[in-house]
Amino acid sequence: MKVKVLGEWLNSCSGCEIAVVDMGERLLDVLNLVDFVHIPVLMDNKYYGQLGDQTHLSLPEADVGIVSGGIRNAEHLELALEIRKKCKIVIALGTCATHGGIPSLSNSYGNNEILDRYYSTETTDKSESYPSQGIPELLDSCYALDEKIHVDVYLPGCAPHPDQVFEALVALIEQRPADLSTKSVCDTCPTRREGKGDLKKLVRFLKAPKQDSPSAPLDTMRCLLEQGLLCMGPVTRAGCGGNSIIPRCLSARVPCRGCYGPVKHEGNQMMDMLNALASNGIDIKSLPERTSLLRFSGAHRLLRPPFKAKSV
Ligand code: SF4
Ligand code: SF4
Ligand code: SF4
Repeated sequence: MKVKVLGEWLNSCSGCEIAVVDMGERLLDVLNLVDFVHIPVLMDNKYYGQLGDQTHLSLPEADVGIVSGGIRNAEHLELALEIRKKCKIVIALGTCATHGGIPSLSNSYGNNEILDRYYSTETTDKSESYPSQGIPELLDSCYALDEKIHVDVYLPGCAPHPDQVFEALVALIEQRPADLSTKSVCDTCPTRREGKGDLKKLVRFLKAPKQDSPSAPLDTMRCLLEQGLLCMGPVTRAGCGGNSIIPRCLSARVPCRGCYGPVKHEGNQMMDMLNALASNGIDIKSLPERTSLLRFSGAHRLLRPPFKAKSV
């Protein structure tokens, strides 16, 4: 019997759903094994009814629920609770779902500041009130999925590599643990390491790395962190290269920005990165804007009001 799969996106940019579609022809193999009962990126099944005629949201029952995005408003929360009720196994797909991701940067600000910014800046007409009809109420903060419902499987990445999405689905169907990396991006990076770098300060992020030539093999280029570039490889979970292993940004000679989240699920990428910089000889006090490190994981917890990024 086919495995019933349900997919939904919450506080999401839909990049994770594109990773599902990006399985390409393997999606046909998956379709032989699973029955998608609800997944907005592939089929039209509306949770308020096809004509929007239901007053309460409802989803079909499924064996597996794949959820991308964190929880930011009342509708996301209602959907997440419904998914948990209807699915035996819940997968958090992508770093927004596993850790809050990029949208959790909004946790540096209160809701009124965000609404002011959106509706009443110099480029918009000053508004006395904000629209409220037909718009779900904002929660006080952006939450990772497991802060509101139980999650069974974590599949981080912004977006997760399609090879990993495929492996996670096949593993579930075959009832075995998914073969996902537990290493760091550095562990899978072929650049040349010579030990502590000579630089005491970080160089500008967009500065080109020193290398013999852009076409020279990656293992002839010195580690970007040792060159003073802010590369978050030491504190970031590997896997973004999929089956080809080599980290995606590094293969383009660009430093890792940490999008796969911490190496261990509960790790604190920011604190670990500050340690990695200090061990590499970088003077932490020289960092121009420490909050720029709060990119992905853990940021949603650290940035909750009344914390203000500007005061750090
Ligand atoms: S993890 Fe990245 S790709 Fe996925 S929904 Fe969030 S921002 Fe988009
Ligand atoms: S710090 Fe960056 S460049 Fe250096 S080994 Fe790690 S991932 Fe590669
Ligand atoms: S190298 Fe880092 S930022 Fe780039 S895709 Fe991989 S985990 Fe994400």
